Amino acid sequence: MTVPQPFPDLVPSSVPDLDAARRLLAFCDASPSPYHACATAAATLGDIGFTRLAEDAAWPAGPGSWYVVRGGSLIAWATSPDHQAHDGFRIVGAHTDSPNLRIKPQPDVVRAGVRQIGVEAYGGVLLNSWLGRDLGLSGRVAVRRNGTGALVRLLRVDRPVCAIPQLAIHLDREITTKGLVVDAQHHLTPLWALSEGSFAGFVAKELGVGVDDVLGWDLMLHDLAPGALVGRDDELLGSARLDNLASCWAAVEALAGAAPVGAAPIPVVCLFDHEEVGSTSDRGAGSSLLPTVLERSVLARGGTGEAWHRALARSACLSADMAHATHPNYADRHDPEHQVALNGGPVLKVNANVRYATDAPGTALVALAAEQAGVTLQRFAMRSDLPCGSTIGPITAARLGITTVDVGMPQLAMHAAREHAGSHDPGPYRALMAAFLAPA
Ligand code: ZN
Repeated sequence: MTVPQPFPDLVPSSVPDLDAARRLLAFCDASPSPYHACATAAATLGDIGFTRLAEDAAWPAGPGSWYVVRGGSLIAWATSPDHQAHDGFRIVGAHTDSPNLRIKPQPDVVRAGVRQIGVEAYGGVLLNSWLGRDLGLSGRVAVRRNGTGALVRLLRVDRPVCAIPQLAIHLDREITTKGLVVDAQHHLTPLWALSEGSFAGFVAKELGVGVDDVLGWDLMLHDLAPGALVGRDDELLGSARLDNLASCWAAVEALAGAAPVGAAPIPVVCLFDHEEVGSTSDRGAGSSLLPTVLERSVLARGGTGEAWHRALARSACLSADMAHATHPNYADRHDPEHQVALNGGPVLKVNANVRYATDAPGTALVALAAEQAGVTLQRFAMRSDLPCGSTIGPITAARLGITTVDVGMPQLAMHAAREHAGSHDPGPYRALMAAFLAPA
């Protein structure tokens, strides 16, 4: 078993794979919304021969590399001619959504002569981090199709169409004694124009449709600053949405490396929307999406209900979500025996109250995968006097009834508009997932 190495200067130096970090940053830049994250993942998978299956079509019986997209969620898997219907699955799961600001259905606001857009915080947003940034707009819009029905189109506006200026210090004297207080209803409404014009009209113009043809939207704001390598020697990286696009990127690349494979288990990657708001939706980890897709893949290959349940009994899931690196300015927020180092390798996350799904058999699977990949594993448990966050891990374990283990890549500033991590960590993170998907 790999011994955890808590601090970077104790970790044996190896050649860092900064290309992996750069590809991760490109993935984040390309994916301002969960819908765009799925499109980015689908494009990568399409380049290496994966084919999209429609949920309302019959699925092929033969082997191949496939994926399904439902809104902001994507599931991909690859089978070879050697796979049997009752072969188990090795699943890597992550989430495509990140805390952000979402556009309300009637967003037009005028105050003090300034036109603003009403927004609602999505998930656990670090509200202050959205102040003073140049913000773009992205997501999807339902538009009328030829007078009948509707069609959903992606929208991405990478111009700085919004900003939320902070109140001047001269008008907020208590900030130096009481700290910044940001009220989501009163202080977070973005400014976007001084002259006439509705938000729906803007969206219609961007899409080239009439304003009456805009039927609904799932739109959100994103920071326009691109991801970057950071620090004196590029040992850090900074980007929006590292939680959890870093895991989505690593999972997709790991699957690309694992497929097609010759024997059991069948590698699967599932990228879920709605983790940040509890996973209960038509496409979140709490939905029927993953069990339905896996069962259909068994049935399409000629398997019976019995084969499906045998396959499940042979399956395991790695729930990939970001981990808290020890913040040097707040080192006491970590359990002293479970410090997590930037560039110290992937983190195994354990919680006695099953906020993480990790247990001893799951730990063994990840420890063996780490050995196979030549990757150092760190271990995280929360301070006993702080509540623990959660992931799709316990939810997926409950939906499928299979061994599930929570693993993450270390990062700082989780849920801020811009987050930071170590630039040497993406490569080993991806390598660990690849080994998990294709155990030796
Ligand atoms: Zn997350």
